[in-house]
Amino acid sequence: MLNAMMPDTGDNDMSAMLNNKDLFRQSAFIDGKWVETKDRINVTNPADGAVLGTIPACGAAETEAAIMAADKAFAGWAASLPAERARILRRWADLMLENKEDLALIMTLEQGKPINESRGEIDYAAAFFEWFGEEAKRTYGDTIPPHLPHAKMIVTRHPVGVTAAITPWNFPSAMITRKAGAALAAGCTMVVRPASETPYSALALAVLAEQAGVPAGVFSVVTGDPHLIGGALTESPIVRKITFTGSTRVGRILLAQSAETVKKMSMELGGHAPFIVFEDADLDKAVTGAIGAKFATTGQDCLAANRIYVHESVYDDFAAKYTAATQALKMANGLDEEADLGPLMSEAAIEKCESHVTDALEKGARLLTGGKKHALGGLFYEPTVLGDVSPDMAIYHEETFGPVAPLVRFSNERDVVRAANDTIYGLAAYVYSNDIARCHRVSDSLDYGMIGVNTPKFTGAPIPFGGFKQSGLGREGSRHGMDDYMELKYVCLGNLDAGLSS
Ligand code: NAP
Repeated sequence: MLNAMMPDTGDNDMSAMLNNKDLFRQSAFIDGKWVETKDRINVTNPADGAVLGTIPACGAAETEAAIMAADKAFAGWAASLPAERARILRRWADLMLENKEDLALIMTLEQGKPINESRGEIDYAAAFFEWFGEEAKRTYGDTIPPHLPHAKMIVTRHPVGVTAAITPWNFPSAMITRKAGAALAAGCTMVVRPASETPYSALALAVLAEQAGVPAGVFSVVTGDPHLIGGALTESPIVRKITFTGSTRVGRILLAQSAETVKKMSMELGGHAPFIVFEDADLDKAVTGAIGAKFATTGQDCLAANRIYVHESVYDDFAAKYTAATQALKMANGLDEEADLGPLMSEAAIEKCESHVTDALEKGARLLTGGKKHALGGLFYEPTVLGDVSPDMAIYHEETFGPVAPLVRFSNERDVVRAANDTIYGLAAYVYSNDIARCHRVSDSLDYGMIGVNTPKFTGAPIPFGGFKQSGLGREGSRHGMDDYMELKYVCLGNLDAGLSS
């Protein structure tokens, strides 16, 4: 929401709650300076609608300034020794962990997620700086056995230059560090445009970047209108790479906008994860796994189980246990230490849940629990389980991005794999079975970038995160995560003399 308000310079609830009040900034961070604009945007707490503060409504001019600063800083940063970049990234990670409670609080206040999930995200986010700092020292090249006479062939790796990141609100810290860690380790500079809903986590990272010794211009944060900032970033010939996490719809827009300047593009887009429970699975573990895979981040997770396929022979047993486990979850303001689920991010998210539930019930699904707004009101929607979901229902094909779990019966392995693959998405899938041959067979047949077998947890800095099909392009994290931030340069030294001169 755009407002013509001036910055709120007085203490408000957010800063009053923090130990390190310096972490709460209401300015953009460009070229190492805190920048204001006349127009401001309100940031609200999804748990109660209270205004937490405002941020600058930056546009093309501020984005251009950040790009120019990143360009100016690039040569020096790229030329720094990898060990020096590693030291700075490590300091940044350590500062995040030292300020974990405050960073988690900021996240819960602006994003709504339960405080324990926020603490977990800070650990997860800091790990990318540590991981990529180490990787900075290992960006080896190749020497190639020559196919031409008297030649030496050398391949070296070079940072691509100025990069830009556009990030979502569901993981306000980790989606930035997963990108910035790789970019800065590679020797690139980065302009970040965080989601309007969760800018304060990004700005707190900028505070710590400065303290860690990241030079001015190497890491900037530009808040404001997504179209103006996205337009300036994609159209700039100086920006050599865009990395985006968000919906497939916006990913397509950014790809089209970037065509003119032919950039490197990384896309972490939507998911529609199948969660398959075979008749030979440990049912209790499958129930616990499906609770985690569905309701973490209150279902607002690209990895969220969106179609829970259960073999017909164990379906009724699973449905009963899963419904009971769902009913035991506590929905509350994320500041409540006992909270398992928090509010959704927007009224549109509530409407999506409502439309998926209404459509499914009209077409014959059974409501096993939930199915309406929570008694807490506002943006709280009850954790919901739908039974007997079928392919004619919208929820079967679309990402809900909310706490609605659809259960689907299946009768054999071939059919369930075919059904699981019948989507434009290919981010994550889950398989529960105690038959090791089946686990391999089914994993091999699923067209997904990441598969959790008998576990809902598999993410972390060392793994290649990313999807098949329209779930994205490229991988983040892992030893592959720096590839997209580096160019290969091949040098052929020709006409070298065959023998030593006398
Ligand atoms: P979104 O609507 O695509 O927004 C993502 C980011 O793009 C936000 O910062 C948004 O800004 C910005 N944006 C929107 N329109 C833009 C435009 N035309 N130009 C430039 N930037 C634009 O997605 P979301 O609702 O925030 O996030 C949910 C989606 O992200 C889901 O589909 C989820 O699966 C996906 N996701 C994927 C991963 C992954 O790693 N694959 C991880 C997390 C989430 P505003 O906030 O200001 O609108």
